[in-house]
Amino acid sequence: MQRQRPSDAGCSRLCVWFAGLALALAMPRPALPQGDSGYLPLRAAFHVHSSFSTGAQSLEEIAALARSRHVDVVILGDPDILSVQYGAPFLRRLLRFGRQERAVLSDYSAAAYLAEIERVNAAFPGVVLVDGMESAPFYYWEVDALAGRWVVHNWNKHLVSVGLGRPEFYRRLPVIDSGNLGVWHWTSLLALWPLLGLAYGWVARRRHPRWVLYPVMGIAVLALVNNFPFTVPLWDAYHGDLGAAPYQRYIDYVRERGGLVFWAHPESRSTLPPVELLGGRVRVTSQTSPHAEDLLNTDRYTGFAALYGDRAVAVEPGGVWDQTLRQYLDGERPRPVWGVGEADYHGEDPARHLRLDDILTVVWARQPTAAAVLEALRAGRCYAVRGADSWLTLDGFTVSTRLGQGETGATVPSAGQVRVHATVGRYDGGAEPVEVRLVRGGQVIERLSGTTPFTVGRVEAALAPGEKTWYRLLVQTPSSRLVSNPIFAVAEAP
Ligand SMILES: [Zn+2]
Repeated sequence: MQRQRPSDAGCSRLCVWFAGLALALAMPRPALPQGDSGYLPLRAAFHVHSSFSTGAQSLEEIAALARSRHVDVVILGDPDILSVQYGAPFLRRLLRFGRQERAVLSDYSAAAYLAEIERVNAAFPGVVLVDGMESAPFYYWEVDALAGRWVVHNWNKHLVSVGLGRPEFYRRLPVIDSGNLGVWHWTSLLALWPLLGLAYGWVARRRHPRWVLYPVMGIAVLALVNNFPFTVPLWDAYHGDLGAAPYQRYIDYVRERGGLVFWAHPESRSTLPPVELLGGRVRVTSQTSPHAEDLLNTDRYTGFAALYGDRAVAVEPGGVWDQTLRQYLDGERPRPVWGVGEADYHGEDPARHLRLDDILTVVWARQPTAAAVLEALRAGRCYAVRGADSWLTLDGFTVSTRLGQGETGATVPSAGQVRVHATVGRYDGGAEPVEVRLVRGGQVIERLSGTTPFTVGRVEAALAPGEKTWYRLLVQTPSSRLVSNPIFAVAEAP
């Protein structure tokens, strides 16, 4: 999560409005090519923060801005809870220190959030808001009290769940500090330990002096209150690194309820600045390293941020993404992983070139509705693009054989030659030097350069019997970058 909050929201809104107006006047919207497929290429801003959390604008302001910038879909990603807490040993719940920022579940409610999304959707025809929330399912503390060193690890490992649709599904997301992780287990009995203190007080009430009895019983009562209702959390921040397990559990929770779930900014580092307390005697720092390997360590998620405001090496040929696709084709992973463009939008900031329509996911949907957008994302019928005023577009990216033809996300049965076709252009129709890398099975098989609009056409020899592979595109111009999703080609076993 990157954070930028304008110091003067009023001015910022006005600037945004003027900028939006200027853009709308200067840039008539080109007709969207619907193509033979019948799909509409809808431009979606994915992972958008509003004033329900750390974003600068209300949902209504975001919808108005989206309309003026020809952004058809806004996929929200306001955090459920934005909190880091350290609980003192033995009184983890009662005696806590930490930091909390505005977020949907802690400051509003899932029901209020969904109701406002519905209201704004009705008020802004032509813009589709899709419900979503960002979560930090887990973090853990590494404490060296003697050295005054408190380190919170992995707080910036974030997942975005999309399209859960029902307030209770969001309310019960299995994330740390949510109160949703408590279960009764035989070890709950251990949480009854303060009863020993009370028992001692009762047994020793006539024999021991009050100055011993009262503090012991006082501590026992406090601990009893702290431990109530005697559940044991599935995970907490005090048992070190739990690896992929909390994230996998979150992913499975969302998938079982029909939602989509994406790894956000997998190669970002920590965004929390260090804090010094007690005159510098205690230093609290946050550490999250780039964590693209989590794409390999977890499965069943829908996709990940393949393009966002930070470096993204996972999409390079043969990188982590291609490794997941190989695992999928080898039967080691139940479903493929799709790439999306992630805005991680908190508000516009011209000085930092931050705008709603810079990093987009273009979704090929059957209709301009939330359900159709979710269906396309689930199927991998989308691509990621970045480039402010000179976005690249991808048209007619197909793989065809004599047995069939498919677009991104599809699996094409293969026999005989394999034909790869795509047209790359600029959204405004302009001409610009372009470089295209065609990736097959994790390797660049062709590097093409030319000028937009540019057509990629390649005829490949037949796959070997039983061979399974994929084709995808990485496109670059001086001002824009595009990452396509893969198209699979599978030859019949001999
Ligand atoms: Zn984030």
